[in-house]
Amino acid sequence: MVTAPSSRLVDGFGRHIHYVRISVTDRCDFRCVYCMAEEMTFLPKSEILSLEEIEQLAAELVQAGVTKIRLTGGEPLVRPGLVGLVARLRQLPGLAELCMTTNGGRLAELAGPLKDAGLDRLNISLDSLQPERFRALTRTGDLSRVLAGITAAREAGFKGTKLNAVVMKGRNDDEINDLVAFALEQQLDLSFIEEMPLGVIEEHDRAEAFMASADIRSQIGQRWQLSPLAESTGGPSRYWQVVDHASRIGFISPHSHNFCGDCNRVRLTTEGRLLLCLGNEHSVDLKAAIRQGDPAPAAVSARVQAALQAAMGIKPEKHEFSLAEEPQILRFMNATGG
Ligand code: SAM
Ligand code: SF4
Repeated sequence: MVTAPSSRLVDGFGRHIHYVRISVTDRCDFRCVYCMAEEMTFLPKSEILSLEEIEQLAAELVQAGVTKIRLTGGEPLVRPGLVGLVARLRQLPGLAELCMTTNGGRLAELAGPLKDAGLDRLNISLDSLQPERFRALTRTGDLSRVLAGITAAREAGFKGTKLNAVVMKGRNDDEINDLVAFALEQQLDLSFIEEMPLGVIEEHDRAEAFMASADIRSQIGQRWQLSPLAESTGGPSRYWQVVDHASRIGFISPHSHNFCGDCNRVRLTTEGRLLLCLGNEHSVDLKAAIRQGDPAPAAVSARVQAALQAAMGIKPEKHEFSLAEEPQILRFMNATGG
């Protein structure tokens, strides 16, 4: 989808913001080695947005021109009341697409209710098809539950489900083609994500594990014919069609391909900050805009809209990720809406 020029959210580089990823919780039932430390300190409840506040901010964002929302986390499915939130967000006039990124661990129970609530699409993370390795990479995850979740999503009627895999050298890079074969068999798209240096994790060396998209693609190319697709989703994925198959293979390459030029997105963190770029700290505090000052709805709305416009002025041109240095970004992916 090419960005439509109607959004009132236009940054200093002329980019129209149509897409917001909302982290509905920083908590998770998994502890993926690249995402979280084994022992995590989560935010106190008073600091995280309530479901009503998430709904209120989503409504303001849609009013300002956002047409696509992705719910993420942490693990969105562990947030109590999530299905109700989906149903309410679905009612927002002007919202074209409501999606979710999930680890899939609770989808077997929740795929049907989410579909009924109006969720449009799912991305499901899957880094290994080997049960023991899956457990090691996620520290707590049960592969059979995730596979059951993928089946449940199909049975519930979800279309266009995409799998996401982070490939780490020496940990799961021998499974690249197994993951592709699985995606082809399931007729699902699959994106490979280069690991990003978000948060310091003692027991995991990101530079050592780093695997560039080009190397992943060349492994796949030895077994299947890939044909590049010209269409842009306005996002960081670049897609290849697997010739003679329904599936597309995407590559999200924050290191080897800078995709910031056509960035159309911002993120709402669990604690209510609008984060302007995953690779920078620039943000505005939307929670303060709703919790502080005159509580009359018109006044709150005016404060939020003013904060959104101010945010556009500080959206950075591009991210700065470097594998050679210590992570510059100390926050973890789970709180920021990865
Ligand atoms: N819990 C859900 C899940 O795992 O899909 C949603 C949140 S998770 C933070 C969203 C995506 O970010 C997942 O596909 C995960 O693999 C990816 N991710 C987490 N930390 C990452 C990192 N440091 N670099 C690249 N991708 C990361
Ligand atoms: Fe949880 Fe997703 Fe992070 Fe894994 S990547 S620890 S599932 S939030």
